[in-house]
Amino acid sequence: MKVHNFNAGPSVLPKEVLKKSAQSVINFNDSGLSLLEISHRSIDFLEIIEKTTLLVKRIMNLNDDYAILFLQGGATLQFSMVPYNLMNQKAAYLDTGFWAHNAIKEAKKFGEVIVLFSGKNKNYTYISKNYHIPCDMDYFHCTSNNTIIGTQMKIFPQTSTPVVCDMSSDILSRKLDFSQFSLIYASAQKNISSAGMTIVIVKKDILGKFKKTIPSYMDYKIHIQNNSILNTPNVFSIYTSMLTLEWIENQGGLSILEEQNQYKAKLLYDEIDKNHLFENKIHKENRSNMNVSFFLKEKNLELEKEFNKICKKENIVGLDGHRYLGGYRASIYNALPLESVQFLIEIMKKFEKKFS
Ligand code: PMP
Repeated sequence: MKVHNFNAGPSVLPKEVLKKSAQSVINFNDSGLSLLEISHRSIDFLEIIEKTTLLVKRIMNLNDDYAILFLQGGATLQFSMVPYNLMNQKAAYLDTGFWAHNAIKEAKKFGEVIVLFSGKNKNYTYISKNYHIPCDMDYFHCTSNNTIIGTQMKIFPQTSTPVVCDMSSDILSRKLDFSQFSLIYASAQKNISSAGMTIVIVKKDILGKFKKTIPSYMDYKIHIQNNSILNTPNVFSIYTSMLTLEWIENQGGLSILEEQNQYKAKLLYDEIDKNHLFENKIHKENRSNMNVSFFLKEKNLELEKEFNKICKKENIVGLDGHRYLGGYRASIYNALPLESVQFLIEIMKKFEKKFS
């Protein structure tokens, strides 16, 4: 059965990745054992960590100044792990949406937070470029893609302050100069793998700058010393991320994926802009290429029910907007085929013809 999966996360993964990871659960590398039955300290698993680390560095063009960690606790844990490790006195944050707001809330437990821009009074529909980072900040934190509302930062500030970025919903979707970031974190369940693992990419020289007692699991340095196996990691998610990274290289890397993602997003935004029944509320220059939010122009429960019914009948899943926002959201991550976007557009066209 063909299903068009627009879920925001956990979300669509490449079919070949799913096949290989499923196979590894039954019989890992012809060992007669499941991946889930081997020690996380075995040579076989250490090889997976090593290979996944190399792939991240190669694909993102990062050198050995960076450590790659595979942690648990989601991006949510990073909201406090970042200030625990990096905040001495104060840090600057951009408040660009629900998750950025949560990151700020946690950071305030560790010191002073300076919010340089908040999109809250405009319902987070745009991201300002006009902010200035004061020079006495321990770090600057931003969210590259705001999964719920569907905005994306297209440029990042040039600054000598360490830049920390939550890339949970657009990591590996476009080519960037990743060396402009001192720390990147991303939970895996969108563009990388199954839920339960967070990739942290950290420039080692920003750590240990001031004296602080940090609980072991919260301490990046301890994870680096322990090669991500301080405790038992999420072996399945790490293995699956290795397969996804291999898939990305086989697709031709980030430039190719970026082109495909831009193309898919443009098709869908063009349709929303043309369609008399739907609208997108995001400022054009901030529209996300990963999460496309849209609403019926006029609130009409009957129409809403009709559209939901058609989507269900056509096996279009995961299109409901976030519980805080309502409306619709098409998450069009790397692994979502172009064909699914084209299919959704056809359905929107037919819907318009019938009801406008
Ligand atoms: N940041 C962003 C941008 C997200 O989209 C999400 C999850 N959707 C989170 C943080 C929280 O991630 P987790 O549930 O893995 O903690």
